[in-house]
Amino acid sequence: MKIFISADIEGITGIVHRDQIFPGEPNYAQGCRLMTEDINAAIEGALEVEPSAEFLVCDGHGTMRNILLETLNPAAQLVTGSAGRNNRLLCQSEGVDESHDMVFLNGYHSKAGTPNGLLCHTLLSLHVCNFRINGEIVGEAAINAAVCGSYGVPVALITGNSELESEAEATLPPGFTFCSTKTSIGFSAAICKTPIKSHADIRAAAKLAVTNFKQGKLSTLAYDGPVTMEVESYKREFADNACVVPGVEKTGERSFSATHNSAAECFMLIWRAMTYGMEETPWMLR
Ligand SMILES: [Zn+2]
Repeated sequence: MKIFISADIEGITGIVHRDQIFPGEPNYAQGCRLMTEDINAAIEGALEVEPSAEFLVCDGHGTMRNILLETLNPAAQLVTGSAGRNNRLLCQSEGVDESHDMVFLNGYHSKAGTPNGLLCHTLLSLHVCNFRINGEIVGEAAINAAVCGSYGVPVALITGNSELESEAEATLPPGFTFCSTKTSIGFSAAICKTPIKSHADIRAAAKLAVTNFKQGKLSTLAYDGPVTMEVESYKREFADNACVVPGVEKTGERSFSATHNSAAECFMLIWRAMTYGMEETPWMLR
């Protein structure tokens, strides 16, 4: 059995503030440790059901170099290194392919604009106001479920902030197990379980998720026909810059989209466009 794990940080046990999640910030080392521990808990739960399972963990936050390789469970290998415009275009799902039986989304958070959403955003917090798939506003959980779904890989487990549960239920097909790591009470505050308690809950949820896979209870996010992904930004310049990527079209003053038969291919176009979107005009030409 092969399990793909896409990991973010904002929905990890104990994470409530940006000073825990970016290099150079005072509590970043704690954030890296907590992220690695939550992933290990999910791996341990899965191994209880399937002792020979293999895991590919994709570090999917910021610099994408947060997870501590030296303390990661040895049943896993790690996809690490930044998601630039010419490498790892699948971003938070880099490494997934048809050989995987299921995906775990660990440490996930709610989409940009979610009321009471703890550290909520969609991919690029400073730039993305709304992300739509075939017209529906979605967050990172559904985006990565769609990318993995194009390889036939269903979501088995989601761990993250409490308010993500309703978003996931509304935008993903049923069958996945949700495990809340903390109860959000605002953008940068939550009622947190201790790691000991949270890890026990994640282990139990992973165990249930793999059991559900074995019983054929998971469903893959698949689309009939072409997939259109559209980004609505806060800034016109972001959309203008993004549209230099062939296949990406402007759909409004601050929005652009791409369409493809495969959600993964569509996402690669959109992610590439987003990396161009962030490009600043050199100061002397502004
Ligand atoms: Zn994220």
